[in-house]
Amino acid sequence: MADQVDDASEIEQAHIDRALAEVRREPFEAWVSGKCEECGDETLRLVEGKCAPCREPWPPLPRRY
Ligand SMILES: [Zn+2]
Repeated sequence: MADQVDDASEIEQAHIDRALAEVRREPFEAWVSGKCEECGDETLRLVEGKCAPCREPWPPLPRRY
């Protein structure tokens, strides 16, 4: 009987450990900082290796008035 209780509390502890590990995990980083492979500028937000200005269409799309 005592063994069963021990097993149960062991499983319970395993669940708690897993839940805590989940909470402590680093938040997922949606973007990375680094050097733009297009212009070589250091940027805080690289998307697919390019900084924001390089991701912009160039020449800028003509506006319709
Ligand atoms: Zn760039």
